[in-house]
Amino acid sequence: MREQFDVAIVGAGPAGSSAAAVLAEKGVKTIVFERGEYPGAKNMSGGVLYGHDLARIVPGFAERNCPIERNIVESQVWYLSADGGYALSFRDRVFEETLKFNSFTVGRARFDRWFAQEAASRGALVVPATVVTDLMRDGGGRVVGLRTDRPDGDVHARVVLLADGINSPLAAKTGFRPEAKPEHVALAVKDVVELSEEAIDERFHVEKGSGVTIEVLGAVTRGMDGIGVIYTNRNSLSVAVGANLSDFMTHRVKPYEMLEEFKSHPRVAPLVKGGRPREYMAHWIAEAGYDAIPRLCGDGYLIAGDSGMLFNALHREGSNMAMTSGRFAAEAIIEAMERGDFTRGGLDGYASRLQGSYMMADLRKYRGFNGFRLRHHEIFTTLPEAAGYAARQMLTVDGTPKKLKQRAIRARILRDIPLLRLLRLLWDGWRSVK
Ligand SMILES: Cc1cc2nc3c(=O)[nH]c(=O)nc-3n(C[C@H](O)[C@H](O)[C@H](O)COP(=O)(O)OP(=O)(O)OC[C@H]3O[C@@H](n4cnc5c(N)ncnc54)[C@H](O)[C@@H]3O)c2cc1C
Repeated sequence: MREQFDVAIVGAGPAGSSAAAVLAEKGVKTIVFERGEYPGAKNMSGGVLYGHDLARIVPGFAERNCPIERNIVESQVWYLSADGGYALSFRDRVFEETLKFNSFTVGRARFDRWFAQEAASRGALVVPATVVTDLMRDGGGRVVGLRTDRPDGDVHARVVLLADGINSPLAAKTGFRPEAKPEHVALAVKDVVELSEEAIDERFHVEKGSGVTIEVLGAVTRGMDGIGVIYTNRNSLSVAVGANLSDFMTHRVKPYEMLEEFKSHPRVAPLVKGGRPREYMAHWIAEAGYDAIPRLCGDGYLIAGDSGMLFNALHREGSNMAMTSGRFAAEAIIEAMERGDFTRGGLDGYASRLQGSYMMADLRKYRGFNGFRLRHHEIFTTLPEAAGYAARQMLTVDGTPKKLKQRAIRARILRDIPLLRLLRLLWDGWRSVK
């Protein structure tokens, strides 16, 4: 390709398509390369998106054929032992009516395709089935384009946006982002389990079109730092479980076995019963937080979304950060074009937008959370079992006075987790999210 573009984007995920849509809307000559056969073909997420960030890029998205599966009206958090466990649930009519599509489920294959089409309809050129293999630089080291695996593969551009996700060989190859360390990422495996729409409505007690998210902590990750999720789609469930990659390496657990165990847990099994597995996928999640974020712009380039480690693990917000960082990158590029300055200084509007946003505020707030989980494996081992024992004791009506039960519970907890360790856990936990 001999043509010169204003902006070349690597990856048509939420970050890349957001940037492309905003740039193309302003008439900026933009090309997006996607290695999948079509945008979304390689992508995977539990599937919850957030309307606030999407509406800034595609106002009225719900009326523009956005492939929404279900509007989320209830969020649950479960804390499970091997035999059962606790469930905390929040359901709100406001999310059903006033705040509709605050969050909603999507299938990424359909959503990413729709989103990329939105960018294309505004004038961006989206090129699928093409891998970006390297970046091109001028004599001064400024990025001036990229190389692809196409025969006519080099593309010149004034700015390159890396929006190529967490597993980014390109970022590592170019040195813009150090290769992700095992403790900085989680490996997640996911099954999409087909069930009828009516069965989902009935099992999750929702009206047609409404849905539920369930995050599951505790004894579902074989003692590893991780989490399980169940999200309702229109006629399927996204069932995923993941854990820190360094834990996978030391525990030598097979991810698909962990997923099968999760699906057969006594609390999960009734929800997936009779379902037909449709897709099985594995993917990394960027969970190291604030301290692992690389420098996100330099001479002639910017990094957005997962590629820049912009992911809030505690609230499982990644797609919104990808979209908003893509939008910020586009806005900063438009400013740089007005000034004709594509150096790091000229693109600095990106960094200042990010620093002033909810994203960096949240990531700074939770910067200790990843380390906290890695230091306190009892959250995934002894604590859920002790918590389960406590509830079982208190709920068993057997003529034993409650005071004696309390003593037994205290003794059991302190047997498994010494008092000092327990206090340390509570203190560290509070400090990691305060
Ligand atoms: C199991 C799981 C559950 C999740 N659940 C949620 C959730 O519920 N809510 C949420 O907000 N987030 C969730 N996330 C995170 C969310 O998926 C990501 O934060 C989001 O997809 C990041 O978007 P992105 O555009 O930065 O990267 P991606 O979505 O990864 O897109 C990157 C794109 O770049 C392409 N690409 C990569 N390299 C190249 C190359 N060299 N050349 C060309 N193309 C390339 C890829 O094929 C891909 O299409 C989840 C993630 C996982 C794994």
